[in-house]
Amino acid sequence: MANVFADTLLKQYPERADALCAVIAEAEREGESIVSAVERTGLVDPALLLGLVAKYHQIDCVVADDYPLDAVLIDGLSLAFLRMHSILPLKIMPDGKLLLAVADPWQTLAIEAVGIATKRKVLIKAASARNILDHIDRLAPEVVSGEEPEFEREVFGQDPPVVELLNRIFSDAANARATDIHLEAERRVFAIRIRVDGMLRLLLQVPHAMGRGLLARIKILSGLNVAERRLSQDGNMRTRIHASDYDVRITTFSVTHGEAAVLRLLPGSRNLMRLSSIGFSEGDLFRIQSSLSLSSGLIIATGPTGSGKTTSLASLVSELNTPERKIVSIEDPVEYQIPGVSQTQIRPDIGITFASALRSFMRADPDVIMIGEMRDKETVQIGVQASLTGHLVLTTLHTTSASGAITRLVDMGVEPFLLASSLSLVIGQRLVRVLCPHCRDSVEMSPPFSEMVLRQVGGKSGRAVRLFRPKGCLHCSQTGYRGRVAIFEVMTIDAKLQELIRLNASSQELEAMAVSSGMKTLIADGYAKCLAGLTSPEEVIRVANG
Ligand SMILES: [Zn+2]
Repeated sequence: MANVFADTLLKQYPERADALCAVIAEAEREGESIVSAVERTGLVDPALLLGLVAKYHQIDCVVADDYPLDAVLIDGLSLAFLRMHSILPLKIMPDGKLLLAVADPWQTLAIEAVGIATKRKVLIKAASARNILDHIDRLAPEVVSGEEPEFEREVFGQDPPVVELLNRIFSDAANARATDIHLEAERRVFAIRIRVDGMLRLLLQVPHAMGRGLLARIKILSGLNVAERRLSQDGNMRTRIHASDYDVRITTFSVTHGEAAVLRLLPGSRNLMRLSSIGFSEGDLFRIQSSLSLSSGLIIATGPTGSGKTTSLASLVSELNTPERKIVSIEDPVEYQIPGVSQTQIRPDIGITFASALRSFMRADPDVIMIGEMRDKETVQIGVQASLTGHLVLTTLHTTSASGAITRLVDMGVEPFLLASSLSLVIGQRLVRVLCPHCRDSVEMSPPFSEMVLRQVGGKSGRAVRLFRPKGCLHCSQTGYRGRVAIFEVMTIDAKLQELIRLNASSQELEAMAVSSGMKTLIADGYAKCLAGLTSPEEVIRVANG
């Protein structure tokens, strides 16, 4: 909902602002209409609410005469959908447009979906949700809540309305800074959710037939088999959203009530971040610069999917990107364009794999080699070999901690003595949500972290410090957070750690040794960022344990 409108509402009822904020936050979390939710609570006079909505959108209110005696076009629409979004078709205008009563004009996607399903341009008037629902019940009395005839108009992937709806979903997802779009057939509706700052939220629910149309369209665009609805498929497509190119990686799979898909949005040309501006502490930056100044060795950024390790890797490489150095990269996909670096995208279909590209790179004798990810034994072997023969090799690995990267590489077949000689630095990381600066609450509390963590940041247990908590306001969609920042652990492989690696030590032993040499663990770096007011202790704990 537009913040301006919510502000107007809160100004009308200052004494109920807290209660209204809570209702708005709950509705936003559930993906429900905020106007309907506010109306239902009775906190606001319904006539006044309706007047505010109509005035804000400069539209008329529905009057008693507008309501039809018989259902208009309801056959073409799912009643569950109309009820859920409090939308009622009123009449077809002389110019062929469809007039709708809507309780919440901000639900533009749902309103547009009605236009798409009925193949008509729509006009809207404001009405209270209560009135709309009463009229839906009056017009369709035979339908009790529960099973009802689903809207089954055949929708094909190339149908223009589905094309428009998919474009709108992409556009809304990009505007919300979403990283993923989830489409899933549920029991009664087909749900479209987006992931923003790591959290899923509902964007829209549409009838099943329209959901199938969307999936068909997505499959056509990404070269997948449209008829295959049971087996999982993976594909790629490129799309343009708001004048920016995106690579979209698609996975489809079947679920209890039909089919589902996850679309990961990768901006085609993401802005490179300077190493100094992605959230490393002074000490960690110094450790990283030291390893980057060496002419050979292996540097690894590690973390789970979506932990920001590719961003760190690109920043490390761009730090090395000077004219006298020859830098090559092999990636899947190329997420950041780095000027002056020769970047290759893997293409297994024509024989370009991480391993085959690496072998041909070695003949070109580069100074720096960036490997997007070490996924298989062969890539690991060649990467380690390259780092032992005078090349600086930078890569990412999928593990949960810096120390875990070492044991993982040994598991993947690297001889411990070779790893001890080649490995120079491991960066472990996660993304935590940043507290909204407009509403964060400051609290005096004793930090909920272990003695070991507190000591790394120079603190003592039992002493209260000033920390911050999320609250929620109109600037942060009531979540209390806005944007994300990385927390890190930066492990320099010194002589003591080399010795432990040769002895095949466990990841716990490796981590304890690193901490005794001055490494701050992920949680300790997270605690430092709590003290700086960037994030909250519960967010650090949630992310570090996830
Ligand atoms: Zn806020």
